[in-house]
Amino acid sequence: MCLKVFKILSKFKKIIIYMIILIIIIKCGSIVFQSKTEETMSEQEELPVAYKEFDYGDYTTIKLLHTNTGEVEEIALDVYLYGVVSAEMPASYDEEALRAQAIVARTYTIYKIMNGSNHQEQNADICDSSACCQAWISKENRLARWEESSRESNWLKIENAVNSTIGEVILYDGQPIDAFFHSNSGGSTEIPENVWGGSFPYLQSVETVGEEAYTSYASEVVLSKDELIQKMLSSYSTFTINFEDENPIQILEYTDSRESEKNKNWKYRNYRNRL
Ligand SMILES: [Zn+2]
Repeated sequence: MCLKVFKILSKFKKIIIYMIILIIIIKCGSIVFQSKTEETMSEQEELPVAYKEFDYGDYTTIKLLHTNTGEVEEIALDVYLYGVVSAEMPASYDEEALRAQAIVARTYTIYKIMNGSNHQEQNADICDSSACCQAWISKENRLARWEESSRESNWLKIENAVNSTIGEVILYDGQPIDAFFHSNSGGSTEIPENVWGGSFPYLQSVETVGEEAYTSYASEVVLSKDELIQKMLSSYSTFTINFEDENPIQILEYTDSRESEKNKNWKYRNYRNRL
């Protein structure tokens, strides 16, 4: 019986071997395919949301107004961002900070192009002034202001920050936000509505701990009594004040981004001492 089975098996030996090889190939193939699929999926998961939801392919160039000459230059968006990041943030900052700056600047720029800029009369999307739009500096001028020994590495760091975030834009409801930025918010951010009105549901007040050691954490304005009176009268014509009162100036109300009691008292004391 066994011999008969062996003979039959021998007859189909080649076929059996082929079948085993085929099974191995199919099995290996499915493992490779599965790992490829997993790889692709994990790549997709790592992609920024903006890349999947918002295509800014129509906004790959920008018309930049040079405020000192009045010229308008058309530049590739991400090349323009090298000049913005290097003007807005020191190259010595951490790579992640530079990357965050690149994303915010890209978002702000695209928002300006899409929603109309301050410079439509000049046929420009944005200008190079930080007081108006956002700062920008040419590569030539930027390099000239760095120590020669660090020029190449600094510029490479800036380029990497922009290039490694290509495609990344901050979105709200699928659209780029009006991405304001600042260097220091003094412990917490303020809701834009409280500063200049408008509606920015995506910009809420948040605590920003760890800024104490950096510049602009706190600022101070010194006014004489007369200057104070004149400034108040220019906005409130019926304004009166009696400096003989024990507390002639008191803070009656804060916005939601109020500071800590300690900070408030410190500022208030300083203010009183200066009057
Ligand atoms: Zn401007």
